Parts: sequence; C-alpha cells; structure tokens
Amino acid sequence: MYSVELINVDKTYDNKQLVVKDVNITIQSGEFFVLVGPSGCGKSTLLRMIAGLEGISAGTLRIDGKKANHLPPSKRELSMVFQNYALYPHMTVEDNITFGLDVKKIRKKEQRKKCNDIAEMLGLTEYLKRKPRHLSGGQRQRVALARAIITNSPICLMDEPLSNLDAKLRAHMRAEIRELQRKLGITLIYVTHDQVEAMTMGDRIMVLNEGEIQQVGKPIDVYNSP
Ligand code: ADP
Ligand code: ADP
Repeated sequence: MYSVELINVDKTYDNKQLVVKDVNITIQSGEFFVLVGPSGCGKSTLLRMIAGLEGISAGTLRIDGKKANHLPPSKRELSMVFQNYALYPHMTVEDNITFGLDVKKIRKKEQRKKCNDIAEMLGLTEYLKRKPRHLSGGQRQRVALARAIITNSPICLMDEPLSNLDAKLRAHMRAEIRELQRKLGITLIYVTHDQVEAMTMGDRIMVLNEGEIQQVGKPIDVYNSP
C-alpha cells in the first residue's frame, strides 16, 4: 500500500550541476530498500527529497500512489532517523520518544502506554526519565528508533543511522533494525555507504554513482554482477 515511486527525478542545487540524474525506481510497500554508494553520490539528497526536506528539481515523486512533489513533510506519513540522532538534549528520553504524539495531540495516557511498549521492545525502560546525554551511543540510537516508530508511520527513512556506533554494536543493531522492520511491516528506505550493511539488511539494494542508478537488485545479484 505505501509504495514510494520516483519517476525521472533530477536534483540540482542552486541551478548548478545535476547531483541526482533521472532516477526511476519503485520501492514496494513493506520493502527494506537500501541506498548505497560512495560519499557525495547523492544518497542523502534523494532521501531528503522523499522526506520533503529538499525540493525536487524535475520528475515526479509518488507516495502511496499519489503525487507528493509538493506535499509538506508532515503529510507524507513517514518518519526519519538521522546519523546524529537529532534528540532534544533538554528533554527526557520519554519526552523525546513521545514528541511526535504530542504534536498530534494524542492523549497523555495513550502516549505513556505506547512509549512503555516501545521502550520495552527496545530495552529502554530503565532510561525513560534520563536526559539523552546520560545515555550511550547505542542507547541514543534506540531512542531515535523509538521516536520514529511510535507514530506508526507506514514509511521510515534512515540516513546512516549506525555510523556513529562501534563495530560490535553496529552488527547488533543491524539485526535489530532488520527484525523491527519485519515485525512492523513498514517500508524502510535505508541510506548507507557501508557495503556490509547493504548486503545483510536490504531486500533490495540500489547502488548510486554520481547521482545515477548504477545497479538495482537483490544483494546477492548486485554483488555477484561484474
Ligand atoms: P551522499 O549522501 O551520497 O554523501 P549528498 O546527497 O549529501 O551525497 O550530496 C550529493 C552532492 O550534492 C554532493 O556533491 C554534495 O556536495 C552536494 N550537495 C549536498 N547538499 C547540498 C546543498 N545543500 N547545497 C549544494 N550542494 C549540496
Ligand atoms: P552526508 O553525511 O550525508 O554526506 P554532508 O556532510 O555531505 O552529509 O552534508 C551535511 C550537510 O551539508 C547537508 O545538510 C548537506 O545538504 C549540506 N551540504 C553538503 N554538501 C554541500 C555543498 N557542497 N554546499 C552546501 N551544502 C552542502
């Protein structure tokens, strides 16, 4: 139901060169879709265009089958997780997690119930009253995940969510995110420059090079091709 479709999508910043060139792809509902490629190839730009944080210079974006080029970010039914977590430092973990529900004016009692369920799932229960600065990197990343999934958005966008974690934790979180995505059945668009992440997490991978699609397919097919 919640597919994301890009049709002949281009991006230029300040009317200069194309940083995304004629991208055509349909990301299926419920798919774990990984965008991979070297630094500067346009991954974040593409993700930000889907989120509505960046305008589309040419082409069409469809979300759930409907044209979304000019839809405000809040109407796109998606949540985001960033590399730097983007938590509010002055707010407790609980208030960070429930922020999106507060904005939607959900009743406090319901917010607490949902927060407790998700905190339980992500092992955050004992940290709910703390401020983010008192958490480890892995715990902060889980708070960012909790904040994204609590809104029940059918689409989630993640931009290098694990790159600030050490190798061991990264491996653990790869599995955790994969499991979470399956359990929730959400459409997940995941940006990384890490080939191991792409290989082990994605249902499909899209390799970008200088703003153009180089390859799209299942991990095994992409990495076995010349
Ligand atoms: P990636 O996420 O793959 O590292 P980006 O999407 O961040 O790539 O960047 C793609 C290209 O667009 C790079 O050449 C980058 O310098 C340029 N770029 C990104 N953001 C901006 C911006 N706000 N203004 C101008 N150029 C930008
Ligand atoms: P990433 O980790 O995604 O590659 P960058 O460090 O390239 O991010 O960019 C961080 C921020 O700087 C982004 O908001 C991006 O839009 C902006 N940016 C990147 N390249 C440029 C550029 N050439 N000119 C202006 N802004 C840029």
